[in-house]
Amino acid sequence: MAAPAFNRDFEPDYGPVVELSPLIRRVVAKNPNPFTFTGTGVYLIGRGDVAVIDPGPTLDEHLDAIEAALGEDESITRILVTHTHTDHTAGVPKLQARTGAQTYGFGPHGPVPDKDPMDAVSFDEYFTEQEKTDFEKQWADTPDELKREGPDADFVPDVVVGDGDVIQGDGWTVEVVHTPGHTSNHVCFGLREEKTLFTGDHVMGWATSVISPPDGDLFDYMNSLTKLLDRDDVRYWPTHGPAIEDPQTYVQAFIDHRNGREAQIVTALGEGPSTIKDIVPAMYAEVDKRLWRAAANSVYSHLLALYKQGRVSVSGVTEDDGGPMISSTWTLED
Ligand SMILES: [Zn+2]
Repeated sequence: MAAPAFNRDFEPDYGPVVELSPLIRRVVAKNPNPFTFTGTGVYLIGRGDVAVIDPGPTLDEHLDAIEAALGEDESITRILVTHTHTDHTAGVPKLQARTGAQTYGFGPHGPVPDKDPMDAVSFDEYFTEQEKTDFEKQWADTPDELKREGPDADFVPDVVVGDGDVIQGDGWTVEVVHTPGHTSNHVCFGLREEKTLFTGDHVMGWATSVISPPDGDLFDYMNSLTKLLDRDDVRYWPTHGPAIEDPQTYVQAFIDHRNGREAQIVTALGEGPSTIKDIVPAMYAEVDKRLWRAAANSVYSHLLALYKQGRVSVSGVTEDDGGPMISSTWTLED
């Protein structure tokens, strides 16, 4: 299936600030992995009175680089958070302690289940011994603080913002756009002076967003994509990877892509009841196997949306059980 026109032509220098536009600068953190692509891109908005969007990981040299980006008469007054995943927010407490800036966000992370639903599915049998060894070595070489991917349950914004709220800085104006889906508390930030949108992980140039139920919700995500089509942004700056030009065309491609995935799942189930463990390796054959666990979450979110619409059923599971599980067997309804 054709994916949206991804752009992976991005080789950042880790550390030094890059001037992107009159009001935008970026520092990229050195935390590359299969989920962050080349790392977390941290945006600095404004001159003099500066806002930081998503400080990124808690690496000291990275936080040093953010502060080093400032000129003599500049200070960080606000920290804006798109959503509570640790590759975006782990560095918030340290940066706040260094700068005294106020934090802005939609709210804390939604409830996180005690057990990771993903633990119920494994694709180990598809890895050769060599691949397993390489994967484990790569993981062992990764600093511990970069392994903390996933929900950040600790973040609580100083200032709670909602859809349509405006954050007024000295020389810049940022509008909050609530875009639930990747997480329930995800927001994008629109910089009015440049008609550009900071999309966090909602729309990225290098890959599709991971939707992890129960906090991630595909139905919400699709609505949040459609919402962006009504805006007249001329460029997106996602957290991971390069800028997105002609963004509405790109967003429409995402919507089509997801609808295509749903059609693939429906087709797969048309051959008989099936499990996510069987569906993913066939559907994501062209994708890095290390991402299959994440893909399983995405397929799960599609199946949950189909389940809500009564288009698929699950044997032996009731709402009292908490609904269908990632390990359930799914059957297409007539
Ligand atoms: Zn995220």
